[in-house]
Amino acid sequence: MITQRHDRLPYDTLDDVSADSAVDAVVIGSGPNGLAAAVTLAAAGYSVTVLEAADVIGGGTRTAELTVPGVLHDVCSAVHPFGIASPYLRTLPLADHGLEWRWPDVDVAHPLDGGRAGVLLTSIDETAAGLGSDGTAWRRSFGRTAKHYPAVAADIMQPLLHVPRHPLLLAAHGMRAALPATRFVRRFSTDEARGLFGGIAAHMFQPLHRPFTTSIGATFIAAGHDTGWPIAVGGSHSITKALASLLTAMGGAIQTGVRVTSMRELPPSRVQIFDTTPSVLLSIAGDDLPPRVRRAFGKYRYGPAAYKIDLAVEGGIPWTNEACRRAGTVHVGGTFEEVAAGEAALHQGRVPDRPFILLAQQYLCDPSRSEGDIHPIWTYGHVPRGYDGDATDAILNHIERFAPGFRERIVGQHVMRPTDFESYNPNYSGGDIAGGANDIQQIVFRPRAALDPYATGIPGVYLCSAATPPGAGVHGMGGHNAARRAIKYLAG
Ligand SMILES: Cc1cc2nc3c(=O)[nH]c(=O)nc-3n(C[C@H](O)[C@H](O)[C@H](O)COP(=O)(O)OP(=O)(O)OC[C@H]3O[C@@H](n4cnc5c(N)ncnc54)[C@H](O)[C@@H]3O)c2cc1C
Repeated sequence: MITQRHDRLPYDTLDDVSADSAVDAVVIGSGPNGLAAAVTLAAAGYSVTVLEAADVIGGGTRTAELTVPGVLHDVCSAVHPFGIASPYLRTLPLADHGLEWRWPDVDVAHPLDGGRAGVLLTSIDETAAGLGSDGTAWRRSFGRTAKHYPAVAADIMQPLLHVPRHPLLLAAHGMRAALPATRFVRRFSTDEARGLFGGIAAHMFQPLHRPFTTSIGATFIAAGHDTGWPIAVGGSHSITKALASLLTAMGGAIQTGVRVTSMRELPPSRVQIFDTTPSVLLSIAGDDLPPRVRRAFGKYRYGPAAYKIDLAVEGGIPWTNEACRRAGTVHVGGTFEEVAAGEAALHQGRVPDRPFILLAQQYLCDPSRSEGDIHPIWTYGHVPRGYDGDATDAILNHIERFAPGFRERIVGQHVMRPTDFESYNPNYSGGDIAGGANDIQQIVFRPRAALDPYATGIPGVYLCSAATPPGAGVHGMGGHNAARRAIKYLAG
């Protein structure tokens, strides 16, 4: 077996484009939000340069051979319901620049003891049919938002304080989203529906009795019933490679290997857009920020962390449940109550014996990632922020619970602990991969209470990362929204 601790990842390279001269706008960071901001500006006719600290573009979307040669692993993001359904990305000709989405047979499976599982399919009718006595409640809970998902997304992918385009749809979705998941789940009585909902709600990294813990789950489910939970062929990196290719085709420039540490290092430009957390911006522009913004950014809170294990598994995972063997995404957490107890433990600083785990089997619909019968498995468990212990056995044993014999099939593994995430990308403070805690205050006002959450108080300087609305995920909406404000500034 090949075992690797995270050190330096084997990057591939994108040709640098020189960026010496003055431009209209500089974007710091080439994650999906940074590149979406740059494309928005370039499409409006402005000259733009992207500066990226790492040797390779992409932020949380890179793909690399982490275990066995030829086996391709997504280093961070893996599955993209928000990517395909993004109100901005879906308007771009990314297919012409190499992006191809593909869908597994089963979008999400949530295994339970006894070989059972809750199963999410793109069709809400088929999903409901599989949930037995909870089918009607499932359809009633998510059907309306799913049917009108593009209209709902146009509103929820904006800052909370905006004039809604579809107020009735938004209000109906918002009333459910505001509920604690522990309250919302009462409408379901089967372990399958309760577990399935709980696993998707747990993406939020919050104790599930808190208000708004239905929000991300209900949105993911509705998006899933609209466009499914696809993966990008060749790896998630294809998404940002396509954005970068589109940007350079429009005349934009990208420089990698440039870590910005001070405003004075930036090339002359009228606009600067930071694809970074408030803390990173504070370290770069602290003295220039107005005191009220400096204070707010200094108080920005980060959430629990990811402990990631990439595996090379011979023959794939021998799940007891048949749907799990066909699922792109598997949530390993047991019953709703077990998932809720695990998420609560995180916030008490403990790693539960059976941590909540997200697992992806992208190779099922993208064989190009496998080497013969050796397949990449992407998985991470939720652990407390900054956790520096060893959660490998707890994670692997929890998967084994639903797939006896799984551990014997592992032929390679690569571990990224919370501290590895922070050194990999400064946006992952303490291993928080969501760009900041999804607590009530930061769900409503992210990154600070302000009419314009992208503004920093310095004219022409904007924040656009996952620390801004609509939060984490590969959707590019923070970048697009910030760039639209920058365009008004440039035109004004
Ligand atoms: C393990 C993991 C799993 C995930 N799974 C999913 C998933 O399945 N689906 C999904 O939609 N999302 C997922 N996400 C979240 C998603 O990857 C992020 O929300 C998304 O990448 C955020 O995009 P961004 O552009 O805001 O920032 P990032 O992607 O973090 O990009 C920021 C970029 O800025 C650069 N940078 C930072 N500081 C500087 C500086 N000073 N100078 C120059 N460059 C700088 C960084 O190097 C980085 O490249 C996952 C994330 C992780 C880590």
